[in-house]
Amino acid sequence: MSVNIPRGTQDILPGQSEKWQYIESIAKDVCRRYHYKEIRTPIFEHTELFKRSVGDTTDIVQKEMYTFEDRGERSLTLRPEGTAAVVRSFVENKMFGHPDQPVKLFYTGPMFRYERPQAGRYRQFVQFGVEAIGSEDPAIDAEVIALVMDIYKAAGLQKLNLVINSLGDADSRNAHREALIGHFEPRIEEFCSDCQTRLQQNPLRILDCKKDRNHELMQTAPSILDYLNEESKVYFEKVTGYLDAIGVSYTVDPKLVRGLDYYNHTAFEVMSEAEGFGAITTLCGGGRYNGLVQQLGGPESPGIGFAFSIERFIAAMEAEGVEWPIDQGIDCFVVALGDAAKDRSVSLVHELRTAGLSADRDYQDRKMKAQLKASDRQHARFTAILGEDELAENRITLKDMAAGSQDQVPLNELAGYIKTKMEAK
Ligand code: ATP
Ligand code: MG
Repeated sequence: MSVNIPRGTQDILPGQSEKWQYIESIAKDVCRRYHYKEIRTPIFEHTELFKRSVGDTTDIVQKEMYTFEDRGERSLTLRPEGTAAVVRSFVENKMFGHPDQPVKLFYTGPMFRYERPQAGRYRQFVQFGVEAIGSEDPAIDAEVIALVMDIYKAAGLQKLNLVINSLGDADSRNAHREALIGHFEPRIEEFCSDCQTRLQQNPLRILDCKKDRNHELMQTAPSILDYLNEESKVYFEKVTGYLDAIGVSYTVDPKLVRGLDYYNHTAFEVMSEAEGFGAITTLCGGGRYNGLVQQLGGPESPGIGFAFSIERFIAAMEAEGVEWPIDQGIDCFVVALGDAAKDRSVSLVHELRTAGLSADRDYQDRKMKAQLKASDRQHARFTAILGEDELAENRITLKDMAAGSQDQVPLNELAGYIKTKMEAK
């Protein structure tokens, strides 16, 4: 009896895993340029952390968490997102005490949500995210947004729409909240049961409902932008002004609200506009969370961040048909014929690897022809052939696969010879 992979998860096999490494390396390099440093937090946390930060009324906390009791009877949860843990760590490690604020962090790793699996939606997925905690300078909002757009650009994605909005400060949000209740309450029976609960708990989230998105009241709902107080308005204008100054284009969408409770002021999403991307077009979500650090027991430290999943990033790359600059090949495959040559090839591949080249050999005792085929299949740049004659004369036949040429090379100079030829290309 065989056991299958759990629903909503996937194996990332060689051939695909290179794409993941590629995106992670691009994202890390952009973070280096923007001076964000990596933080690694546990994969599970106390359940309480997510209840208090993500929010009791959100889909994540109500329906999607992988929560379990450990042997010590503590309630733990596999992390559904990254911000809560980063903020917990910020507080716990007193990063608010660093002289230089904001503290600029990035993270990457698996997240877990019990969702209905479909294209672009998994139960285990990998997020890459950044958080800048400890400054309320609108320049940092623009920086964080520019950072994620630079990651997409570096990968070669072009068909993107950056959508931004302001949710305002607490006062603006409260005024808007009252207006939303007034707007939806008289006809709330026409909405789904989730929306009926949301009305009093968090009416902003009605705007985010996927079931009722076409209800006519959605189109006429009061816009947050009309409820921003002066301070919030000025803040938003500063953010968009900085984006203009650095040449990041965007669309303002007053209907953009983010699912999590902790957001205020700047909220943004990056959508793919590639044809054939599928129903779920959101690649990245982010925003400002000024009260979260306090909520988790720290001093007032305003923060902003974003997260995207590598799964949807890859889907966008495929939908746009962007080339993957991924090298699947190896530098040298050593073909050995006869027992003595086979023995010698063990140390020969080791010498190549020690010299920094990627090298491989046959382990199935195959004939010459099959070994040559293997070398081809593995996209070797060079095939080195060691037979009895060559071994006796301390040389090796080296085929340059692209050029189709062939040389005789002294056996102990093979690595240096290949490196010189590769550098010449
Ligand atoms: P959605 O509305 O698609 O459910 P969300 O608001 O739950 O998204 P966030 O919590 O903001 O998503 O997560 C940020 C990003 O993580 C999303 O924009 C998306 O790229 C990715 N993401 C979220 N959930 C999943 C999932 N189940 N599988 C793959 N990627 C996901
Ligand atoms: Mg979701």
